[in-house]
Amino acid sequence: MSISAAFRARAKPLARAFTSRAVDGFVGGVGNTPLIRLEKLSRLTGCDIVAKSELQNPGGSVKDRAALGVVRDAEQRGLLKPGGTVVEGTAGNTGIGLAHVCRARGYRCVIFMPNTQSQEKIDLLRMLGAEVYPVPAVAYEDPKNYNHLARDFAKDLPNAIWTDQFDNTANAEAHYRSTGPEIWEQTQGKVDAFICATGTGGTLAGVGRALKEKSDGRTQVWLADPPGSVLASYVSSGGKLKERSGGSITEGIGQGRITNNLGTFVKQLDGALHIPDQKTIAMLYELLDTEGLYLGASSALNVVAAVELAQKLGPGKTIATILCDGAYRYQSRLFSKKWLKAKGLEDSVPEHLQKYAVL
Ligand code: PMP
Repeated sequence: MSISAAFRARAKPLARAFTSRAVDGFVGGVGNTPLIRLEKLSRLTGCDIVAKSELQNPGGSVKDRAALGVVRDAEQRGLLKPGGTVVEGTAGNTGIGLAHVCRARGYRCVIFMPNTQSQEKIDLLRMLGAEVYPVPAVAYEDPKNYNHLARDFAKDLPNAIWTDQFDNTANAEAHYRSTGPEIWEQTQGKVDAFICATGTGGTLAGVGRALKEKSDGRTQVWLADPPGSVLASYVSSGGKLKERSGGSITEGIGQGRITNNLGTFVKQLDGALHIPDQKTIAMLYELLDTEGLYLGASSALNVVAAVELAQKLGPGKTIATILCDGAYRYQSRLFSKKWLKAKGLEDSVPEHLQKYAVL
């Protein structure tokens, strides 16, 4: 059965488990997200394809966990005191998570971001009270890169921290302590493989480390990589870092270096898959049409990778991945015919799903 045919097969009747305990505010609402079994893709592959629905965090993305993790760590180490300022360089989701946490904890929030990011994310950050500085998207080696600008801004300001999501390992630690153990619990320890893409490396390394520890190394951990990222070839070549070139339509993922959050965990990876944008876009529309899931592109890329890994490992396995965020942040791009055409991706949307590209 093709992926398209599997998606058109009839769904099972609805079943939903509710949890009813109250939690404390924004911070209490972070984590404990559902693990969604993608029924049609599971049937197609003969595996259980399960996806952690991180878009259901109160700030809408997987980065709520990292944002809370880095702020908590700075508070615990006495680096951030009441009335302080949190500064970060971020493509968006970390900033959105931080802006929420800062409102909930009473901090000023200052965000530097590359000016290639979607207008929805910039607007949202400002609505959440953050000061946003969109800056030219230059390479990490350039002193004007958004990360260095954030670091420099915080350096001279009293009671201010640069949260440094790429190299501050409190990020991966948050996933090691929460996302990983949650997946372990939700699969009752029967998770054969975990695969996801990487921006900072926090999710992959944090979840990966937790699952490998809990399973005594039995859970395989794989990286999924978009075009323009060097990590898949780094893993497949046994550690050769090539020059970064080209790009992808997926925001928030892809990397040109080994961040501290990825760190030595990169050596424990069992493999890496390169996923082209064409497959990501096709999956994005399929997941909307038949699962009712309105997702950002990195989530769709992760699902493509989970399906390909299931096909590699063979039937009977449980493969877990991450639904990083929803499409709301990118809809003016991902659901615009004009934008898809400009990216050469209009033919990647299956004919019967073109009706969803309404913008
Ligand atoms: N997907 C999206 C949409 C993101 O914003 C990010 C973080 N930049 C990721 C995936 C990757 O997460 P991580 O930083 O933990 O590698």
